[in-house]
Amino acid sequence: MKSDSRIYEMGGVITEADGEHCTIRLRMPAGATTADQMIAAAQLAKKYGTNELHLTTRQTLEIPHISAAQIPAFYEDLLTGGNSIGAERNEVVNITACPGTERCKFANIDATGMAKKIDAKYFGKNMPGKIRIAISACPNACTSETLNEIGITGICTPIRQPGYCTGCGTCVQYCQEEALRVREGRVVMDSDACVDCGTCVRSCVYDILESKPASYRITLGGRRGRHPKAGMQLITVNSEETALKVIDLIIDWIYRYASFDTPIARQLGKDLNIDEFKASLPKKLPEGSTNT
Ligand code: SF4
Ligand code: SF4
Ligand code: SF4
Repeated sequence: MKSDSRIYEMGGVITEADGEHCTIRLRMPAGATTADQMIAAAQLAKKYGTNELHLTTRQTLEIPHISAAQIPAFYEDLLTGGNSIGAERNEVVNITACPGTERCKFANIDATGMAKKIDAKYFGKNMPGKIRIAISACPNACTSETLNEIGITGICTPIRQPGYCTGCGTCVQYCQEEALRVREGRVVMDSDACVDCGTCVRSCVYDILESKPASYRITLGGRRGRHPKAGMQLITVNSEETALKVIDLIIDWIYRYASFDTPIARQLGKDLNIDEFKASLPKKLPEGSTNT
């Protein structure tokens, strides 16, 4: 059990406007929780709060209006119910993810499984600035992952087999990017228009379209809020293991070289030499594990 003063310092304990109450944010990687944890959180809202719960934009649950004096008792009950406090300060905060291969028919990667692995290793790690990590299992980008300090997108690059194509046009109808056309009885692809979603691969009625292994496109330095900005494309790798290794390298790089309290997005290209970091990455990863 943490001492009372340590509990008040936790990032998930957020002082409200009146200065007397706190909103308690929970740790909830990929927004996943159990029915029992949810019931326990609801009971806390009844016992200590005002019977209200709040769902945040980054897939966590908050219990508002907790009297500051009651927080130690609240915290003990929170742990008993199988929940734990979230993060909000200069640290690795809640890892968000879409349902991924666990449930979504468009998914190329196991987003929730990956989020839980990153959470287990890095959640709450003190950093020079707030680090948000988000994962989408396909380019539909349901978690807006590129608007986070670290974004991971699951992609699937199709490989056309023109010799066997019947020209039925099914894949053309499924492609939302107009990257496919049938010409002279065979499908042709505009690689520049393709976003590597993999939908055409799954739609080919004759299983003719093949694909490279599902890959992980990683962006760095995105942010939401007052000055939203998409992250810069850093690298694409072809296994979860290598993607997790890239996350290790990014966290270590930011931890060592970023300035305190300035958004990472504002430091890229200035104090943080992203070009140098990007160029150094392939040498630190297993041979053949990158797509670029
Ligand atoms: S990002 Fe893609 S895989 Fe994830 S939920 Fe959205 S559509 Fe499904
Ligand atoms: S991968 Fe997606 S964007 Fe690319 S050609 Fe297939 S359906 Fe179109
Ligand atoms: S669905 Fe398959 S067979 Fe039909 S046009 Fe596309 S690649 Fe060719």
